Amino acid sequence: MQYLADDNRYSEMPYHKCGKWGLKLPAISLGLWHNFGGVDVFENGRAMCRRAFDLGITHFDLANNYGPPPGSAEENFGKIMQLDLAPYRDELIISTKAGYLMWPGPYGEWGSRKNLLSSLNQSLKRMNLDYVDIFYSHRPDPDTPLEETMMALDQAVRQGKALYAGISNYPAEMAAKASKILKELGTPCLIHQPKYSMFERWVEGGLLDVLEKEGIGCIPFSPLAQGLLTNKYLNGIPEGSRAAKSWGFLKPDQVAPAIEKVKKLNEIALQREQTLAQMALVWLLKDSRVTSVLIGASSVPQLDDNVAALKNMKFSLEELQAIEMILSD
Ligand code: NDP
Repeated sequence: MQYLADDNRYSEMPYHKCGKWGLKLPAISLGLWHNFGGVDVFENGRAMCRRAFDLGITHFDLANNYGPPPGSAEENFGKIMQLDLAPYRDELIISTKAGYLMWPGPYGEWGSRKNLLSSLNQSLKRMNLDYVDIFYSHRPDPDTPLEETMMALDQAVRQGKALYAGISNYPAEMAAKASKILKELGTPCLIHQPKYSMFERWVEGGLLDVLEKEGIGCIPFSPLAQGLLTNKYLNGIPEGSRAAKSWGFLKPDQVAPAIEKVKKLNEIALQREQTLAQMALVWLLKDSRVTSVLIGASSVPQLDDNVAALKNMKFSLEELQAIEMILSD
């Protein structure tokens, strides 16, 4: 049946300005790194995109290499656009990235102009889009002058193939330099996408300050530490979970060392009448420098659970101190 978006889709979700810029992102955005590839069930991914949009999630995050196989998440998202979301294109923020290995030879990865612009053309074809809203340099390239990578982002915007430029995984000092170059080029940096969660807090050591100073938004990826910061691994590694799969980046041996902290955090979440996933998400959003949290999900109920986090965003001082104690242990 033809998809019709929920009329109430904008009634609950908060939208935050991306740094100082006019573009607003939903407090929760959906990433298609896992669960949308050729190895996954297409109708499940499609149902998640539809549900996400019905819940007010207007932002879908992709990259050239998402799958597996690489490229298949963009192809599947292109199909979902065609089947369901195309009438809503102007209500959507679709992002993609280039920088990780995508094709053989010297131009298939990193930060050269050749890689970025060829990859963007491929992404647009796979998703059957005229433009993406945000185009990212996925990672800094130690062998390419920052100017070249930033000039490629600027050119993508000038060509109308992207509306905004972003950077991902750039350390603080390099992010500041990138921002300066982009400003000079006339295509200021909209957003930075770093790894940030209760378990991964490097951004607090300078990057968040740089982003605030430069007026750049921040969209943390893997805010649930790929599922570790949920109640799913409390009693072992369930079948079908990310850690149980043969592909992907969460390995079974990463689970056990985290579980003691996860159990303690789960107790605090229960006292707050939240799931641990919900608490981990709003813990990030309490910092006004965080524009949106970029979640993954493998089912519609997970998506519902995560968006319901927004019903309880306040922390008491005691709760924050108790969380710090657990994390610093
Ligand atoms: P999360 O940390 O949100 O992990 C998502 C996983 O957590 C899900 O697949 C699911 O695991 C589990 N999960 C989610 N919600 C719940 C819940 N309510 N209860 C129980 N388990 C839950 O994010 P990801 O690591 O998936 O990353 C999110 C997005 O960030 C990516 O899709 C991508 O867009 C972006 N990203 C960007 C990177 C970059 O370099 N710029 C790198 C990595 C990600 P399960 O599958 O086991 O059910």
